[in-house]
Amino acid sequence: MKKAFKFYGGVYPPENKITAEKSIEVMPVPDKVALPLIQHTGIKCKALVSRGDTVLLGEEIAEAQGHITAPVHASVSGKVSDITAYLHPYLGVPVEAIVIESDGKDEKVKPKRVYDAYFRCAQKELISAIKDAGITGLGGAAFPTHVKLSPPKDSEIDFLIINGCECEPYITSDDRLMQEHSKEVVEGAKIMMYILGAVKCIIAIEDNKPLAIEIIKNIVFNEPNIDLAVLKAHYPQGSEKQLIKALTGRVVPSNKLPFNSGVIVNNVATAYAVSRAIKEGETLTSRIITVSGKGINNPKNLKVRLGTLLSDIADYCGGLTDDLAQIVMGGPMVGISMPSLNIPVIKGTTGILFFSKKEAIKREYSDCFRCGRCVRVCPMELFPNQLSVFIENNYIEESKQFYPMECIECGCCSYVCPANRPIVQQIRFIKYKICQEQKTEK
Ligand code: SF4
Ligand code: SF4
Repeated sequence: MKKAFKFYGGVYPPENKITAEKSIEVMPVPDKVALPLIQHTGIKCKALVSRGDTVLLGEEIAEAQGHITAPVHASVSGKVSDITAYLHPYLGVPVEAIVIESDGKDEKVKPKRVYDAYFRCAQKELISAIKDAGITGLGGAAFPTHVKLSPPKDSEIDFLIINGCECEPYITSDDRLMQEHSKEVVEGAKIMMYILGAVKCIIAIEDNKPLAIEIIKNIVFNEPNIDLAVLKAHYPQGSEKQLIKALTGRVVPSNKLPFNSGVIVNNVATAYAVSRAIKEGETLTSRIITVSGKGINNPKNLKVRLGTLLSDIADYCGGLTDDLAQIVMGGPMVGISMPSLNIPVIKGTTGILFFSKKEAIKREYSDCFRCGRCVRVCPMELFPNQLSVFIENNYIEESKQFYPMECIECGCCSYVCPANRPIVQQIRFIKYKICQEQKTEK
């Protein structure tokens, strides 16, 4: 088992992993799904179907455009009833979505090809199969996986890290996936190692998941090139740069990506999806999420079809409690507040949290009194206090000298701030402004 290095900062929020003992349940097919044409980091897809068309489960219904993109597939069989705007959970704006009314038959499209002996195939063939399956990073970032597995030719990748840390409080879906589908997770890791030519793979799990650790340990025992690393539960351990530092001692330079340090990081759910795509010919039409919080009657770990509306999930989980105060998509540290239940699950959805009034305490914020707590917990070693004050006063140029683009939006600074300052939201805003500026300059 591998020993880990420490990273600077971070916090230890209370875990609240109330669904840790709940096995993954498969949610019945919903009556309809709404599949947004953009569910990944990158360019929006182009619809291949029109209203009235019939589609099969797994059929490609929106094609990838450009380089950083991933196609969308029908997650139920049935009829396209509409192509209309739905509020995008992460972009916060309405985005065109293909709406399919299920016929209840779940008739599947024939898989294009199954690669049983993948190690006899050309790497580029496997990359193209992963692209065709529409796989994106399922840990939340939704970066297209085929792009991540195609680093520039001159970069030598020696390490593949499979991220099973799941350091967000409340979320347990990756823990359950590792317990219930461990063989496919390891198989996915081996496929990705082969594609990258990586000599070593490390599966990283935090020490609050003893069953997953035991199961994975037994499987990798016979795999000389795959190590298991057990890391101390410490938020944001699952963040790419912190994980690379903890496992290899390497620091990803400012403005650079993990491949610049010879490492590629993929989440356990992505490894599972890669294994299903290569060995079963499955396209990405469902994912495992955690539904939790005291605002829902029956918290669960669920396998849901992509495009399932939050309202259907809430009904399936026994309905909302009377003291529901807030709905969050993702974990409580980096998740985003949802204004309604008419929003679909997309590829990057790791969980849906229904917070009661007690859990979703909203407090007024006050001036920064320079206690320095946010500086001491920032894992990127930034000055969140300076950024917060500059952004609040609209000093955009001045804020740039404190490297806002390096912020990984982990939320540690907001979590510890005794003045309740919305630091991470302010930094997100300035990052958006800077990106807009850069686009206009081009
Ligand atoms: S400034 Fe960014 S990276 Fe630093 S603690 Fe705050 S959210 Fe995390
Ligand atoms: S934690 Fe809050 S009050 Fe303290 S320095 Fe940071 S922003 Fe200011």
